[in-house]
Amino acid sequence: MTAADDARAILSRLGVPAGVFTPTGLPIRSPVDGSTGGAVRTAKPDDVDRAIAGATMAFDAWRRVPAPRRGELVRLLGVELRAAKADLAALVTLEAGKIASEGLGEVQEMIDICDFAVGLSRQLYGLTLPSERPGHHMRETWQPLGPVAVISAFNFPVAVWAWNAALALVCGDPVIWKPSEKTPLTALATHAVVERALARFGDAPDGLLQVVIGGREVGEALAADPRVPLVSATGSTRMGRAVAQSVAARLGRSLLELGGNNAMIVTPSADLDMAVGAIAFSAVGTCGQRCTTLRRLLVHEDIAETLIARLAEAYDSLPIGDPRDDGVLVGPLIDDAATHAFDAALARAVEEGGTIVTGGGRVERAGAYVRPAIVRMSAQSPVVMHETFAPILYVLTWRDFNEAVELQNAVPQGLSSCVFTDSVREAEQFLSAWGSDCGIANVNIGPSGAEIGGAFGGEKDTGGGRESGSDAWKAYMRRQTQTVNFSSALPLAQGVRFEV
Ligand code: NAD
Repeated sequence: MTAADDARAILSRLGVPAGVFTPTGLPIRSPVDGSTGGAVRTAKPDDVDRAIAGATMAFDAWRRVPAPRRGELVRLLGVELRAAKADLAALVTLEAGKIASEGLGEVQEMIDICDFAVGLSRQLYGLTLPSERPGHHMRETWQPLGPVAVISAFNFPVAVWAWNAALALVCGDPVIWKPSEKTPLTALATHAVVERALARFGDAPDGLLQVVIGGREVGEALAADPRVPLVSATGSTRMGRAVAQSVAARLGRSLLELGGNNAMIVTPSADLDMAVGAIAFSAVGTCGQRCTTLRRLLVHEDIAETLIARLAEAYDSLPIGDPRDDGVLVGPLIDDAATHAFDAALARAVEEGGTIVTGGGRVERAGAYVRPAIVRMSAQSPVVMHETFAPILYVLTWRDFNEAVELQNAVPQGLSSCVFTDSVREAEQFLSAWGSDCGIANVNIGPSGAEIGGAFGGEKDTGGGRESGSDAWKAYMRRQTQTVNFSSALPLAQGVRFEV
């Protein structure tokens, strides 16, 4: 059986209706062995319109449901996800090419955010404020916002939806999901799991959770529609700019999770054993296709030779292959276009003065397999400034810690960052107002692999959005300031007098 056949078998086991398959539409394909098999139906413009109309109707009902009861639906979703974890994770592996433990980790992230959101459903807290007027009371409350469009990228084909949907649901918002055209199967499978949770819940309104399969035109239609107050878009900076402008033109709200260009600073006091482990996972995990992938290694010149030699050794023994196999740590890139981008970036790095330390080139097997590369650069040339979504680690050296922090911040993106050091001074400077300018800053941990409890997102070209934990839920709600007069007079604020 090909990987594409395996994927179809999982879909039918999860209860995805056969009607989603069509002779034409989005082709079903797997990066694991490059196999294809059939296609899935894509949305027509009318389907998008119908989905938004359905979500608008659902909103009217769902916002009236008490938040803790809304949380019950998310709890059931978590239960169903636990039951489907192995199948859904296997499908993530087959469709996105993640190694098995990363596929399982992605589904675990969905479960974790459901647990978080269930608790949150009893904690959508506001404020009470003193009023300057006698016999008055002020408060700030958070109200449901309306239908939320979630546009997601291929590399976290299910977790990003869950980060958004679990919060949106408890906040009182319906969700319309436009998954990546590269990963429609995992979205359809997730929706089958959603249907089971909805059936157990019993009385959720129709149109509360929908998935619309299609290309960028579906995302464009959602971004442009004023009935969608929030568009949460994850993907490239190019896509984010287009979505942001379309949503802003109608004064809607966008939550953008875009590209990263993440760095690690390694100082002379760093524990190099830990650093090597963290670099390997962050730079080659998911075959370099995480928004938080380590792309720039900024190492003190005194330890550069030692660290690079150790890394080259680790890279040369990386198990690359079928991501379903035990022991494999590097699976395929998503498609041939990604391998071309990998080759082109390496060629450009050499043109810009870089030296390839190890890696580069294809692994001879069906599918889009490459050898993760390490490239020494003498400067942050244009290729280093750009996010190539593939396992290329650029290495630069520095002498002074301030210079290292400047290098770290001197790229357009601002997602994740980290320092390996045993010096409290260096660690605290890195975390200070004049330290890392990223949304995520870590000490003695790589830039990749965030937990759902913290707010996730980044600055500058990464888009500025925050999802997942902390108070990210506020993006999915409407803030309302309320003033109640329980006196029998009508005083005005600021001493204004207006008597009729
Ligand atoms: P992509 O930008 O090609 O596509 C992402 C999604 O946007 C897809 O669903 C696509 O159909 C849609 N889309 C594309 N153009 C659009 C437009 N003009 N209007 C509306 N929708 C549009 O990204 P990709 O290749 O799937 O994913 C890789 C990128 O995603 C990388 O840059 C990566 O860093 C980023 N990413 C960021 C995060 C984060 O949280 N910051 C997480 C995952 C991925």
